Amino acid sequence: MKILKGAEVSAKIKEEVAQIAAGLQEVPKLAIIRVGENPDDMSYERGATKKMEAFGLRVESYHFPADISDGEFKEEFQKINGDADVTGILMLRPLPKQICEKDIERMIDPKKDLDGISPENIAKVFAGDSSGFAPCTAEAVMEVLRANEILVEGKRVTVVGRSMVVGKPLAMLMLKANGTVTMCHTRTRDLKGACQNAEILVAAAGKAKMLNGDYVGQDAVVLDVGINVDEDGKLCGDVDFGSLEGKAAAATPVPGGVGAVTTAVLAKHLVQAAQRR
Ligand code: NAP
Repeated sequence: MKILKGAEVSAKIKEEVAQIAAGLQEVPKLAIIRVGENPDDMSYERGATKKMEAFGLRVESYHFPADISDGEFKEEFQKINGDADVTGILMLRPLPKQICEKDIERMIDPKKDLDGISPENIAKVFAGDSSGFAPCTAEAVMEVLRANEILVEGKRVTVVGRSMVVGKPLAMLMLKANGTVTMCHTRTRDLKGACQNAEILVAAAGKAKMLNGDYVGQDAVVLDVGINVDEDGKLCGDVDFGSLEGKAAAATPVPGGVGAVTTAVLAKHLVQAAQRR
């Protein structure tokens, strides 16, 4: 079984980013917005910051207390959103309950919305229009396939999970790439059958090791988006990686798979945002 390593995909994206950056007049700047101190957000922020620095891009973090009011946050958000020195924005989510996230999705400048949360960018993903920004994780899955020259066209693709961050936009990207897509969720009756039938199987359910080799068709390609903690407190995906040997043709590990590519896609979106300006 071939291990689809995120670092190799990220290195290829780094070259593309450098090429685009070379044509820019100034180094673009990413604004990371974090409200509160959620450890997952902080870990993602560290990863994104490191990646921007490694790719030679600018990054600035904006932190706000967890109890900031809706009005106050919107005022601060608008300042960052309107700042001409900020090329792109990554807002860590979910936001605390007192802040209306829907309003922020509508407020964010679609040209700075690097993680595809604005209605305009979402509509573009669903329309198959690549002039906007798709959510970075969904696009990262496509980048893993592209970098490894795995064609989607005509293949049976099953996506487990239908969130707006991963499952749904990814299904649209797969469809645009001419895959034949099946989407699964908690009400899917024959999950195992739908997974076994897939030539490309994507797990994005957020359930530690819920899919094992029994769910995987012979020689399928398995992409694991899940980031979970197992019973031993170790990071793991939605797929039991160890059970894939002899079954899958190729698979992404966790950690070191799709997650490592997500921040590279973020960097690519940042230089693209600058280029489109
Ligand atoms: P989410 O919003 O909780 O959505 C999970 C989806 O999976 C839902 O659609 C749910 O179905 C479905 N699901 C859950 N359990 C299932 C089961 N037993 N059988 C079938 N479907 C099931 O999660 P998310 O934000 O999409 O994230 C998914 C995973 O990806 C998480 O582990 C998250 O940490 C990870 N993630 C990784 C990255 C990265 O960079 N690699 C980025 C974002 C997220 P229903 O709709 O029916 O509830």
